[in-house]
Amino acid sequence: MIIKEVQAKSILSSSKIFPYVINTYTGCQHQCSYCYARFIKRFTGHTEPWGEFVDVKINAPELLRREITRKHKDRVWVSGVCDPYQPQEGKYKLTRQCLEILAEHQWPVTIQTRSPLVTRDIDVLKQMSQLEVGFSIGTADDSMRKLFEPNAPSIQSRLDALAKLHEAGLYTFVMIAPILPGAEALPDLLAGKVDRVILDRMNYNHSDWVYKKYHLEQYRTDEYFDEMVATLRSSLAKFRISL
Ligand code: SF4
Repeated sequence: MIIKEVQAKSILSSSKIFPYVINTYTGCQHQCSYCYARFIKRFTGHTEPWGEFVDVKINAPELLRREITRKHKDRVWVSGVCDPYQPQEGKYKLTRQCLEILAEHQWPVTIQTRSPLVTRDIDVLKQMSQLEVGFSIGTADDSMRKLFEPNAPSIQSRLDALAKLHEAGLYTFVMIAPILPGAEALPDLLAGKVDRVILDRMNYNHSDWVYKKYHLEQYRTDEYFDEMVATLRSSLAKFRISL
């Protein structure tokens, strides 16, 4: 794993999904097979495979402190393409420092991660009035998680973290995306831990080889996804979880 400290030119960027996005890291140690973010590698100069390098934007908090005073207040996505709570955040605390600044200025924030490390920052998150904090969880089956997301935290650790955030009174959501084999058991596990669920099929091309290698092709047909979305919708309704 190549970890490099870099000086970013800017940090509070425009986004197509939310008005703004902050990416404190470029590259992601979670190494999900389907990762849609790998396209950014071509802007980094790295030759290592995706998942084997992380650029740490060491000046992110300093930049944000400057940029936040120059931009119109609106919702910020933390993060768009590389997990804001990937392992390096344990050492660098750049996401935490950026959240402290956003809390100080009371900007609305949407956090999205696969890591329970986010619970470290509950003290900061509780200072925010328009916060939603969510996990991406594509399956309830940790053996599937190991095939598709080998270096990401376990499903149970994400569920435990969600429960902790929800108990702290924070608005929580889960994005079931991509919908992986074993997703049908998720609503039962999410009941009482989340305010909202988002379903998204996403683009699977990068993980084609995983489906092939483990003979899982029947789980990536249109029929399977249609059936799974219907099953999930009905179970989520039973548990009164909003979509
Ligand atoms: S956590 Fe997100 S950014 Fe990181 S490898 Fe997985 S999909 Fe890509």
